[in-house]
Amino acid sequence: MAAKIIDGKVIAAQIREELAAQTNELREKHGMTPGLVTILVGENPASVSYVTAKGKTAKELGYHSVQDSRPADLTEQDLLALIDKYNKDPAIHGILVQLPLPKHINENKVLYAINPDKDVDCFHPVNVGRLVIGEGVFRPCTPAGIQELIIRSGTETKGADLVVVGRSNIVGKPIANLMLQKAKGANATVTVCHTATREIGAYTRRADILVVAAGFPNAVKGDMIKPGACVIDVGVNRIGVTASGKAKLCGDVTYEEALQVAGAITPVPGGVGPMTITMLMDNTLRAAKLAAGIK
Ligand code: NAP
Repeated sequence: MAAKIIDGKVIAAQIREELAAQTNELREKHGMTPGLVTILVGENPASVSYVTAKGKTAKELGYHSVQDSRPADLTEQDLLALIDKYNKDPAIHGILVQLPLPKHINENKVLYAINPDKDVDCFHPVNVGRLVIGEGVFRPCTPAGIQELIIRSGTETKGADLVVVGRSNIVGKPIANLMLQKAKGANATVTVCHTATREIGAYTRRADILVVAAGFPNAVKGDMIKPGACVIDVGVNRIGVTASGKAKLCGDVTYEEALQVAGAITPVPGGVGPMTITMLMDNTLRAAKLAAGIK
């Protein structure tokens, strides 16, 4: 039987509805509006489209949304001063610096200058540490989206064998840390595979939940999947151009094969992708509640 498709667009839309309702409640009960600033340095076309999408979503949810665009020759010192300004701005609860930054700016220095309580990307070492010890306020956006897809597709996580392929700082490590927490929607037995892992298939074939973030097509084929497993394909690979001139995408999992073996699977596009901005909005609302002292 073909696997159930986990539709990231539908789940992201559900979460956005919940966020909009909570935002209304925050405004009515506490007179407070979540505020997000996206800072863009330069005019990289992909970055422009990402910050535009983030700003648009924030407005749709009723947030106070500021897009602060600066020229590519902005100095590191001026960018740090800008962050300091938003760190002190009570109307701004979340600060997002769009990456990559121009080469003359030290990215870590900039990211670490953001007040951890406004760090809605969850890249600051304080927030990474909080996540690891199970006291996180924020979840990094893509891993948070993956966790929500797992939970909302009805997959049992407690005690599940969960295997992650990939150990990057933005996907592999944080999703492993999230899912091993002794918490609802987690509490899994987590294994992380990488390029030094011997016989990856021996691990992936044990997985009740398989998260693949290896960064290349066909990293996981059908015969590497346990029958009935929940497969989350994080990969985004450009493999050509469609007839209408759009980029043709595929994930890291051999989709047609996986469909015949897995119990549930995310498509690419339309799986993890639509979740990332939604979870940024979730973090912004959390930041606003944190500022107001609301749980
Ligand atoms: P990355 O930084 O390139 O990391 C890839 C990881 O996979 C590394 O840890 C690497 O191991 C491991 N790996 C590579 N080849 C492997 C192999 N043959 N066997 C086992 N492990 C292998 O990638 P990333 O930033 O995590 O992104 C992964 C994928 O997710 C990419 O396709 C990216 O475009 C996509 N992505 C999607 C979203 C979204 O919103 N949908 C967000 C972020 C990323 P080593 O550490 O040993 O090198």
